[in-house]
Amino acid sequence: TVVRLLNSAAFETSAALARVYSHQAAESEARTDALTQLPNRRYFDEYCTLISSRRRSSDRVAILSVDVDHFKRLNDTYGHPVGDLVLRSIGKAIQASVREDDVPARYGGEEFAVLLRNPGIGVALEIGERIRRNVSDMDLADAGVTDRVTVSVGVASAQQAGETMDEIIARADRALYEAKRTGRDRVVEDSNEDTVQ
Ligand code: GH3
Ligand code: MG
Ligand code: MG
Repeated sequence: TVVRLLNSAAFETSAALARVYSHQAAESEARTDALTQLPNRRYFDEYCTLISSRRRSSDRVAILSVDVDHFKRLNDTYGHPVGDLVLRSIGKAIQASVREDDVPARYGGEEFAVLLRNPGIGVALEIGERIRRNVSDMDLADAGVTDRVTVSVGVASAQQAGETMDEIIARADRALYEAKRTGRDRVVEDSNEDTVQ
């Protein structure tokens, strides 16, 4: 009887574990972008909220906002499936450009975002530049793409001075807009006077 009880307890436990794991898998699917396998916007936003609530005044964070340049033209020239393939390559290039602690995400369409945790001074800009370079260095000949693919990057850093993550993201987007406006294939950092950097 004891053995049977144990067995049944073990069974119960493994069934419970299986439930938890499948739940986790579903959860992680809901938080992963199917095309690039990067975290999706939902995950990114949840993570930002989590960081916001736990952030101490000394914690530094930075947001990189990345948008593919003239992507519509690339789709028009090579077709949507090739566009998808290019997005996957860009996702890999971004992933390879950041550190373990950082959170790269596909934010939507042809836009990516990266959350940098405690980057040293100048590091956010450096990583933005690395992403820009790694994307522009991609060899897409196998996909038949002979045009150079580039991204523009907006950078916003903050050492908490009461600034919310939403505000930092908005500043990164503003910097991105500036990068587009001033010629694309470039990294622009938003300089906020309230920000210690
Ligand atoms: P800009 O340099 O100003 O950013 O120009 P753009 O052409 O990149 O920007 P625009 O917003 O005009 O076009 C974005 C294009 O991205 C249009 C849309 O069809 C394409 N796109 C969005 N999501 C996907 C996707 O998942 N796959 C593919 N292949 N294309 C996508
Ligand atoms: Mg866009
Ligand atoms: Mg674009």
